[in-house]
Amino acid sequence: MTGPVRRDGPPLAPQTLAAHGSESIAQPYGDLVQPIHVATTYERATDLGYPAGRAYSRDQSPAYDQVETLLSELEGGRDSLLFASGLAGAAAIVQALQTGDRILAPRVCYWGWRKWLLDTAAHWGLQVAFYENGDADDVARQLAAAPTRLVWIETPANPSWEITDIAAVSALARAHGALVAVDSTVSTPVLTRPLALGAHLVLHSATKYLNGHTDVIAGAVVAGDVPDAVWQRIRQVRGLGGAVLGPFEAWLLLRGMRTLFLRVAAACANAQALAEALQHHPALVAVLYPGLPEHPGHAVAARQMQGGFGGMLSIRVRGGQTPAVAVAARLRVFRRATSLGSVESLVEHRASVEGPDTPCPPDLLRLSVGIEALADLQADLLQALADV
Ligand code: PLP
Repeated sequence: MTGPVRRDGPPLAPQTLAAHGSESIAQPYGDLVQPIHVATTYERATDLGYPAGRAYSRDQSPAYDQVETLLSELEGGRDSLLFASGLAGAAAIVQALQTGDRILAPRVCYWGWRKWLLDTAAHWGLQVAFYENGDADDVARQLAAAPTRLVWIETPANPSWEITDIAAVSALARAHGALVAVDSTVSTPVLTRPLALGAHLVLHSATKYLNGHTDVIAGAVVAGDVPDAVWQRIRQVRGLGGAVLGPFEAWLLLRGMRTLFLRVAAACANAQALAEALQHHPALVAVLYPGLPEHPGHAVAARQMQGGFGGMLSIRVRGGQTPAVAVAARLRVFRRATSLGSVESLVEHRASVEGPDTPCPPDLLRLSVGIEALADLQADLLQALADV
């Protein structure tokens, strides 16, 4: 049996909490690592009660307890919910709104989410308007133009890594009575804690850095001072909508999170060094990375990202799509694959994935920088760029 999560003694640093993964000891063997709770249902007492407090694991799986507690602690939230994917978590936030509500979203954000907002959210009668990433004045103008229920932030924004000032936009949104949700997948709780900057909710595609090993699809939503009615609605969307994570995936996710701080630090250091090394390369027209002082969002990023600027950077190859695709084809250490935030480095030509209406330029290659030896990554990129 798993005991309650134990947090006695002096407060512990986030690195310690993550490394321990959980403070609860499973009985009867005293396992330091939790067993995987696979039961879907729990015995009911003769008085019709549930002695252990659980009835059915679709929305009450004990497999979630440790991960949700750890995430709440790392984000400084009051509660967390795991989902079957990042998109399931994001969709649950929007599904907690009312038909007719208006959402303000960034023009550049994860393509699948933008598509969901344009297709599904609009189909359900929600209004969706887009603001220019990193432009708080544009957010202010759009908030003044029409009543808005939710402001969505993604920072750094996939795939060109624009930075939005979470504190400034949250203050504006709150002044207009709007909720703020931050997709903090790329920043992770290691670098940014959006709730402390004024957001109501944080979303993670836990598929990426939180898990970090390219073997789990998962999502998470963390609650700050979001009104309880909204939070309970999100919980209900999960429980009745059924986009739930399996117990094995939850167990793997906790295992991945135990090394989160080390992995994110290594990826940030590699990405920063690569961005600096490539910045003036003649085969490139731009290196997009918030850790470069020339990046338009650098000053805001330096304020709201502590300990690094993330492991994601993009390069724009001179000459357009054909040479960009050829560079990706010549890479040997970077693997050609979608997704991000894992221990191994990935490269992707995003425009060909996102289709004709993408805001992503055709010469852009997205690099998810892993934790390999920097010299190997740098040599790989330099040989691939040599023939452009
Ligand atoms: N948010 C960001 C920033 C992403 O990059 C992704 C996926 O790439 C998602 C959300 C969606 O996450 P998932 O694939 O876990 O549904």
